[in-house]
Amino acid sequence: MAEQKGVNPFAIAQQQFDEAAELLGLEPAMRAFLRVPMRELHVTLPVRMDDGRVKVFQGFRVQYNDARGPTKGGIRFHPEETIDTVRALAAWMTWKCSVVDIPLGGGKGGVICNPKNMSATELERLSRAYVEAVGRILGPEKDVPAPDVYTTPQIMAWMMDEYSKLAGHNAFGVITGKPLALGGSAGRGDATARGGWYTVREAANELGLDLAKATVAVQGYGNAGSFAAILGKELFGCRVVAVTDTQGGVMNQDGLDPKAILEHKKRTGSVAGTPGTQPISNEEILELPVDILWPSAIENVITGANAGRVKAKVVAEAANGPTTPDADAILYKNGIHVIPDFLCNAGGVTVSYFEMVQNFNHFYWTEKQVHEMLDKKMTDAYHAVLAASRRHKVHMRLAAYAVAVQRVAEAVKLRGWV
Ligand code: GLU
Repeated sequence: MAEQKGVNPFAIAQQQFDEAAELLGLEPAMRAFLRVPMRELHVTLPVRMDDGRVKVFQGFRVQYNDARGPTKGGIRFHPEETIDTVRALAAWMTWKCSVVDIPLGGGKGGVICNPKNMSATELERLSRAYVEAVGRILGPEKDVPAPDVYTTPQIMAWMMDEYSKLAGHNAFGVITGKPLALGGSAGRGDATARGGWYTVREAANELGLDLAKATVAVQGYGNAGSFAAILGKELFGCRVVAVTDTQGGVMNQDGLDPKAILEHKKRTGSVAGTPGTQPISNEEILELPVDILWPSAIENVITGANAGRVKAKVVAEAANGPTTPDADAILYKNGIHVIPDFLCNAGGVTVSYFEMVQNFNHFYWTEKQVHEMLDKKMTDAYHAVLAASRRHKVHMRLAAYAVAVQRVAEAVKLRGWV
């Protein structure tokens, strides 16, 4: 599922921002300031592997904008990571925190590595090396990482522990997505997909779509994708007809059992070959005639080349950056309702924010309380974006940008930076 060659995610993020800046009539200095990161750190990480040799990894942390609060955003461990991907993701985190109106800025981190070929002990040493190298710019009041593609609660635990050693005291609030036993929040595990479903529920109401009769396809079966499938069935009684991961995919028109597929993936490493299913590819799944399509894997999968063949009524972007700007124009023209990434997948960072608040206060909420607060944040954000889309007569992504960029620009202005 490699991203389309030649498409630079940061160029896309800037192009999207430029359109929003134009729509909002932002002054030139504000545009110049908001279209690039405020800070970034590049680090080189020598890590001892299990065979005794040292391997050298490259890592990044980008703090895109902290006008509204400490920067926030995950760390990806990915073999094809690039600084421009991290910059784009950091920009999207800025707009994401703003669109759900939580008091945080945006950041992102990445390490070029292939965690699938690394042992647990190698991953632990890499995680600790990363924090040793970027720790000086992290902190509960400065920059707070979280999980992202191929990073897990266990990795967050190692990173929190390493930072706490550097700080000389427990600093649970330095990172989110931690295990429950170490200051994690109830409800963080499925928060990205759950928050996304709250926005889909609102969209379905607007479109007159009955979710109990709706069909669903999910590309990507990591944290966001697997919970998108599981919760679609559990919360709304949707029929999940197809899911894929990097190795392949499975389909059954009568409906799949998302939990059985997850078990199969845990056992074999892939959803492919789950008993009682037919195979389907990552390209085919995007073109299925389903009600709700969840691109939940990686950037640039819906492009000018295939957007015309997307038949879903709603595209719920659990992944960051799955749709290119030329594809956006086609989907909009074809009347497909896109719930854009930084709105649709903001549930993860919203519960991360709740996790930070709980860590600061040493007081923990129940899962039910977290779900209710998440629902309110997502529902309010969806309707703010829908209203902007109707007011400006633009697609949902540009509307989401308008809402988010406006708030960040206001904070920058009030602080007197520009
Ligand atoms: N990595 C997730 C995202 O892209 C979560 C970030 C966070 O919780 O800080 O939204």
